[in-house]
Amino acid sequence: MTQKILVVEDEPKIAKLLLDYLKAAGYRGFWVDDGAAAVPTIQGKRPDLILLDLMLPNKDGMTICKEVRAFSDVPIIMLTARVEEIDRLLGLELGADDYVCKPFSPREVMARVKTVLRRFNGPDQLEAESPIVIDLDRREVRAGGQLLTLTPNEFNLLNYLLKNKGRVFSRDQLLDAIYDDFRDVSDRTIDSHIKNLRKKLGRALPGRELIMSIYGVGYKLELGA
Ligand code: CA
Repeated sequence: MTQKILVVEDEPKIAKLLLDYLKAAGYRGFWVDDGAAAVPTIQGKRPDLILLDLMLPNKDGMTICKEVRAFSDVPIIMLTARVEEIDRLLGLELGADDYVCKPFSPREVMARVKTVLRRFNGPDQLEAESPIVIDLDRREVRAGGQLLTLTPNEFNLLNYLLKNKGRVFSRDQLLDAIYDDFRDVSDRTIDSHIKNLRKKLGRALPGRELIMSIYGVGYKLELGA
């Protein structure tokens, strides 16, 4: 899902620059230019991260940061105009996650955004993005970081389901996909491969049901949120 980044900044040129870079980096950026509008916007739109200018009309960045911390631990990166200001802000323990001094390079800000989001979301999130990693050259599968021991057919079946994740396949389609010919395999063969795959995946990723049976149709693989 696209992450939403709120820019709280009263200088339109800087805000526009940040929004352009956020968009290019794949984030959905939006902007408020008035300090008094920041907290209601954050409550209403629940951004994934906030770039917060210090000097703002009507309510300053420090006050906004403190108010936000009363109801949310959303990552906040403060933008300050003076480098000496950063020491003072750190001493105030406002609860900001990082500080960037103006004038900044937008590239630098994007790098900080990425780092802070990664730190905030933690390793769980990273793992959730791809619980299964397949190395086709070595014919190796890792699930939850563990190397799985799979038969060639199990490997082919898992690879096929993963490549087409979210799609439902009948047993016949799966047989077609993993066998070159139909010698004497019955469609129960697929059931037994699926059973073994589930057992092996279940050991590496306890509590995760990745391969789902679709009653009367067949199977599909979902990686989940
Ligand atoms: Ca300002």
